[in-house]
Amino acid sequence: MKSRLLDRLLVAAQVHAIESPGPRMRLVTLTGPHLAGLDWEPGQHVRLQVAAGPAAVDWLVGMLRTYTVWSYHDRTMQLVVFDHGDGPGAHWARTVRPGDELLLMKPQGTFVTAAAPYHLFAGEETAQAAYGPMLRALPPGTRVFGALEVDSPEERLDLGPGTNLEWSYRRGRSAASSETLVEAVRRLELPEEPGHAYLAGEARTIQLVRRHLIEERNWPRRNVLTKPFWTPGRKGMD
Ligand SMILES: Cc1cc2nc3c(=O)[nH]c(=O)nc-3n(C[C@H](O)[C@H](O)[C@H](O)COP(=O)(O)OP(=O)(O)OC[C@H]3O[C@@H](n4cnc5c(N)ncnc54)[C@H](O)[C@@H]3O)c2cc1C
Repeated sequence: MKSRLLDRLLVAAQVHAIESPGPRMRLVTLTGPHLAGLDWEPGQHVRLQVAAGPAAVDWLVGMLRTYTVWSYHDRTMQLVVFDHGDGPGAHWARTVRPGDELLLMKPQGTFVTAAAPYHLFAGEETAQAAYGPMLRALPPGTRVFGALEVDSPEERLDLGPGTNLEWSYRRGRSAASSETLVEAVRRLELPEEPGHAYLAGEARTIQLVRRHLIEERNWPRRNVLTKPFWTPGRKGMD
């Protein structure tokens, strides 16, 4: 019964390669026959077994952490893991080696693009991991605006050609409750009509940006899609 349940929930994969696209970024490439034929939409995430879990739940799935699928094709899936220095997910990404085996849950989630006159993206290091695949999948000619705030230029990921994003740098300041990201979004010259906004990353910053769009720019709430990825003091958000 346990193995049937696990087969429905989890997929086995092997680590194929690890690269460092930035000083604190790990690009982890996973492969394996069980990765073939999964349903995936850009912006969706997987949950990975990064370590053993607390005794009460370890028998089932172990310690899970959530990462957006950076790319997926046939039997190959890539994830970008930001090394914030603390926690089992970050530790896993620092120590994982080619050939390591792991289990993951199939892609899931509703943080995906919807038809809109234009799209607005705002967030920090971890949000980039979601925006890359979402931006790459937009039809050519789609209007895109965005404000991305990372610690330094070295931590920018390549989010694809032709994207109209404003980048700013925190230079050691916390990404939590970032008023400077809100200010960067406030400075964007957006069309009069609302578009569709995608806000991922640190939870309090997302709320500040959301409030700006709804209260200062009068965007309808339904046009602002949020997905908190982490916040100080909370572990393993999903
Ligand atoms: C839908 C979804 C998609 C996600 N996609 C990605 C992704 O593609 N890449 C990615 O790197 N992360 C992503 N995240 C965030 C990632 O799941 C969290 O950062 C997770 O907490 C990391 O686990 P951990 O074991 O390293 O730290 P935890 O054990 O969860 O947390 C330990 C401590 O570290 C802090 N912390 C966690 N993350 C950060 C951070 N980024 N910066 C600073 N402090 C932090 C926590 O607040 C906590 O105090 C995603 C989250 C969600 C919900």
